[in-house]
Amino acid sequence: MVEKGKAIEDRKCPKSQTRKCVGCKPCNITTGFSGAGAFSDGKLSLSYEVGGDFPQLVGADMAQELIGYTDRIYLEFGADTRIEGVSEPLKVREIRKRAIHAGLKLVDCPIRHLGTEKAQHIYGAIERYLQEKGVEMLFDSHCSDLIMEEDVCKGVILSKSVNGTTQQLRYEAPHVVVAAGRRGADWLQTLCAKYEIAHKPGTVDIGVRVEVRNEIMEEVNKVLYESKLIGYPRPFKNKVRTFCQNPGGFVSQENYDNDLAVVNGHSYKDLKSDNTNLAILCSHNFTEPFNQPIAYAQKVGELTNMLGAGQIMVQRYGDILDGKRTWQKELAQSNVRPTLPDAVAGDITAAMPYRAMVNIINFIQAMDQVVPGFASTETLLYSPELKFYSNKVRMDENLVTNVKGLYCLGDSSGWTRGLMMASAMGVLMGRKLLEK
Ligand SMILES: Cc1cc2nc3c(=O)[nH]c(=O)nc-3n(C[C@H](O)[C@H](O)[C@H](O)COP(=O)(O)OP(=O)(O)OC[C@H]3O[C@@H](n4cnc5c(N)ncnc54)[C@H](O)[C@@H]3O)c2cc1C
Repeated sequence: MVEKGKAIEDRKCPKSQTRKCVGCKPCNITTGFSGAGAFSDGKLSLSYEVGGDFPQLVGADMAQELIGYTDRIYLEFGADTRIEGVSEPLKVREIRKRAIHAGLKLVDCPIRHLGTEKAQHIYGAIERYLQEKGVEMLFDSHCSDLIMEEDVCKGVILSKSVNGTTQQLRYEAPHVVVAAGRRGADWLQTLCAKYEIAHKPGTVDIGVRVEVRNEIMEEVNKVLYESKLIGYPRPFKNKVRTFCQNPGGFVSQENYDNDLAVVNGHSYKDLKSDNTNLAILCSHNFTEPFNQPIAYAQKVGELTNMLGAGQIMVQRYGDILDGKRTWQKELAQSNVRPTLPDAVAGDITAAMPYRAMVNIINFIQAMDQVVPGFASTETLLYSPELKFYSNKVRMDENLVTNVKGLYCLGDSSGWTRGLMMASAMGVLMGRKLLEK
């Protein structure tokens, strides 16, 4: 296993001390053993309907079976036995009724919540288990290329820093599995072009991270933990959805290797804030003459970063409707205090594409019918919230690509978008490789 980040016990984000992102390269939040999962909120979506298109590849029943099997592994390694979103069916009905009135769809999805601190503990136990079983793990090792001979993938080339100099190492293998995550989407795109790996251009989601007081979200937090709502607001009727809800959570910043700063959110199992945050995302696809969704979203992110002097920008919803920027001193006038202290007050609408902004405003108005108070003047919108999904690599139900010896897995394959679905796909990959 080759990993450009660190072992889980060495993954530390200096921001807890510095209070400000210092831009580690690579970022310890998203790289290292267990990838973006270790510092994630650890919300395991237990329905095949959430977390990506993997069920289209293997069938819904198979995907659900794999989720059940994978969930038992998480339980064996110490996950909480409690499942959120299933204990109050009558209240779920009431929420759904309001969603129907608002023209939104409520997706049922039981959730097992690991919590950020617990996720690190569980993934740490998995790391040790694998090492004890003889899995060799190379950390701080960046995979820079594939070894290709006559259209067959024979291994990988690694770049590793040894005593201050970068060494190139060749590793040969009969089966190479690329599982580089969302952060590896760019790199995989280059590989697809270079080695003619069959794929379809992926989508990108552009949106905002919304933060409100817990009082506003109290009911949905308690009944559902995560409200997965989907709408197609006028006039564009594009798909807009809620994503990654964090009751009592914290808004966070992630830095990409190309210096792009994007916003995210997470919540701890024990440490709680007064706020709930969630993402509102609009999907973007392109056809011709332009079909590079990642490049498009990157430009949106860069422009937003530029206006925020490299920091995440935050604006009050009411100010957006009034057509004015938010000033730092105005943030202190609200009930809701930003949980991302280094976010810069400004005007996110100066960088957000018109279509995405209109979609978000109209979706927030609809959400207000499901969650009264959601569209308040003081509701905070952070930007850029970008989700890059890789090119969707062409594969069959055996997870075989058109390049012999090469397999793709998880978010970088374009078929998954979440922890549980990526984990379940990993389990299937393991089973398939054992059959070889
Ligand atoms: C802050 C945050 C919170 C999240 N919260 C949730 C949540 O609550 N629930 C949920 O379902 N999902 C959540 N997600 C998404 C979830 O973490 C991902 O869907 C999941 O981790 C995907 O798994 P993966 O193995 O495909 O990729 P990753 O977990 O991203 O792992 C890919 C690994 O590959 C390594 N890598 C990349 N390129 C190279 C290279 N060239 N050479 C060597 N190594 C390389 C990276 O360092 C990384 O460790 C969250 C993500 C983030 C960032």
